[in-house]
Amino acid sequence: MIIIENCAIATVDTAGTEYASGHVVVDGNRIVAVGAGPAPVPAGEGARRVRHVDGTGCLATPGLVNTHHHLYQWITRGLATDATLFEWLTELYPVWARIDAADVHAAARAGLGWLALSGCTTSTDHHYVFPDGAGDVLAAEIEAARSIGLRFHPTRGSMDRGRSDGGLPPDEVVEDIDTILAATEAAIDTYHDPSPEAMLRIGIAPCSPFSVSDRLLAEARQLATRRGVMLHTHLAETTDEEEFCQATHGCTPVEYLDSLGWLGEDVWLAHCVHLSDGAVKRLGATGTGVAHCPSSNARLGAGLAPAADLLEAGVPVGLGVDGAASQESGLLAEELRQALYVARLRGGPTALRARQALAMGTIGGARCIGRQAELGSLEAGKLADIALWRLDGLGHADITDPVAALVLGPPAPLELLTVNGGVVVSGGELRTASHTELAASARAAHRGLMARDPEHPEHTHQGRTS
Ligand code: ZN
Repeated sequence: MIIIENCAIATVDTAGTEYASGHVVVDGNRIVAVGAGPAPVPAGEGARRVRHVDGTGCLATPGLVNTHHHLYQWITRGLATDATLFEWLTELYPVWARIDAADVHAAARAGLGWLALSGCTTSTDHHYVFPDGAGDVLAAEIEAARSIGLRFHPTRGSMDRGRSDGGLPPDEVVEDIDTILAATEAAIDTYHDPSPEAMLRIGIAPCSPFSVSDRLLAEARQLATRRGVMLHTHLAETTDEEEFCQATHGCTPVEYLDSLGWLGEDVWLAHCVHLSDGAVKRLGATGTGVAHCPSSNARLGAGLAPAADLLEAGVPVGLGVDGAASQESGLLAEELRQALYVARLRGGPTALRARQALAMGTIGGARCIGRQAELGSLEAGKLADIALWRLDGLGHADITDPVAALVLGPPAPLELLTVNGGVVVSGGELRTASHTELAASARAAHRGLMARDPEHPEHTHQGRTS
């Protein structure tokens, strides 16, 4: 049992209940009490095994839910730093074509450890590069998530439309459709846990309209319906994509997905930056979720997504760090502020409030991935995924409203992060892995990957200095 007391609490429940000083009690993997003032005194067997956490100076919120990421990209950060999406992809596809399972394991451990330190308790991942001879890269990232201790929703991504078929990726990084569908179904058979307490669920995620075929999208739709799993892809990220869709399919990206049965409550889409008013309404009417990735959109100059309009239309909107190669920071807590900034750059100073940003990062993300019944708010009966932010340091102490301090202030240190009732971070330190070891492994994997490309500048640099 864990008893957290004396902290401010933003429950992010439907009524927006908050407490200036309150308690959260965890028994096993569930929250059993949330309220004002001190916790009730525990009785019986549980009373002898209580971990008391004094939350004085802290704010408790639901753990953040990361709705879009590419963990393997952690070891290809800092490349093509001044490029459009298509230029950036064209530079990076050949690098990614050389990754193997050991690279993905190191990258995913680093990326997930970093996410935990920014208050993330559940992360999705979109992995779509499966080079020949790379080993089992999906198993590698699943093992990484198990070792770090985060709740994990990896998607089996895919690309089947190479350059020779009019797509953007080089042919050597695409797979054939039968291989993709068989591997996706095998991943569901092996890993997917449909239970409410699941630590691991598999989704299906063809990469984007410009890297997959109509047939793959249609078959992925059928497979998701048959197996009861979620669908995910990138959509409407850039004007280049809009032009590609118009030229190739004669319609917008949202109309294209709609024609393939790809809008609905079991679908969430990354980005959705370039949408007409009609497309926003259509996403709302179908209950299709959106993973809003404001920092990545800024890094690639993709544009300002209409997140406030999407919320107004009833769309489930979550936050994603995306990247990591298109968003080197990778801190999910920063996306709370970035979401607010982007909404206000588009719509003025009242376009999005701090509490709406926090809701996007928590219950909004849970809705995107179909877990709103058990994640995303601090309520008795929900799973014990809790972030306790320290707000009494120099960066935040003089801001009276704790939610404003969290969202508008610098990323806050974590006093505690629990996932499924287990402690992942305490006292600002990752408890499930060595921070130093994660950094060293990621750096070694990055250098190894770069060294395998004879034409890359870093290879030349290493050659000169070693
Ligand atoms: Zn992405």
